[in-house]
Amino acid sequence: MEDNQVQVNNQIKERLEKVLLDIKNAELSSGRKEGSVKLVAVSKFNPAESVLSAVKAGQFLFGENRVQEAVSKFTEIREKIGSRENQKLKLQIIGKLQSNKVKKACMISDTIASVDSLQLIKEINRHAESLNKKIEILLELHTGEDTKSGFGNEKVLFEALEYLSNNNAPNVLPSGLMTMAPFTSDEKIIRNSFVTLRKTLEKAKIEFPNLKLTELSMGMSSDYKIAIEEGSTQVRIGTAIFGERIYT
Ligand SMILES: *Cc1c(COP(=O)(O)O)cnc(C)c1O
Repeated sequence: MEDNQVQVNNQIKERLEKVLLDIKNAELSSGRKEGSVKLVAVSKFNPAESVLSAVKAGQFLFGENRVQEAVSKFTEIREKIGSRENQKLKLQIIGKLQSNKVKKACMISDTIASVDSLQLIKEINRHAESLNKKIEILLELHTGEDTKSGFGNEKVLFEALEYLSNNNAPNVLPSGLMTMAPFTSDEKIIRNSFVTLRKTLEKAKIEFPNLKLTELSMGMSSDYKIAIEEGSTQVRIGTAIFGERIYT
């Protein structure tokens, strides 16, 4: 291993520990139970080596937003770790999913966190069924002015939940909601977006009691403390662990 990569690995371990400590402090200061927020380490644009150093530091849940990148990276990673680590390793797809990538996404991942249409739910179910597999999904809601991803409004989101609640997609396991706050430094706008997601989940739980909706995936490197204050159960953090991404 090159010196440079050794340095990167040490940095990742330190940053990971700091993020975990920050999460714990945010849990406690907002009156929540320690350990109630999961960390999804977002490794997009970072090499397999970097993911491996996070695994060595005890992180097993990762998020990637491009399927092709995830396939080659996580195939390499799985070849390099032991069988116990392989069992613990979980991958979420968190980026916009095109229909021609659904099959591969179902093959490689455990969770698809960026589900934004009923059509996509049907396709995930079809591929999951043919792979004889269950896929966990999070339904993404568009909650802010300048974010474009996700179901456009509560009505279309609830139509999809209704479909799921009627057991039309038995190989798809909906576990909650996901959102991305708008890119702004205005804390009020960010907080609003998280509050919207929390309230939508509360409403969905009442309307669809047979679905086990518990997860709120919200919060990234710049806003995860606010997200935890507003009830996030999983934060998706890339930059604060792996450093600034170098887009190639
Ligand atoms: C890249 C990405 C993240 C992580 O962003 P950071 O600011 O690097 O923490 C989280 N969620 C989604 C959907 C992403 O695409």
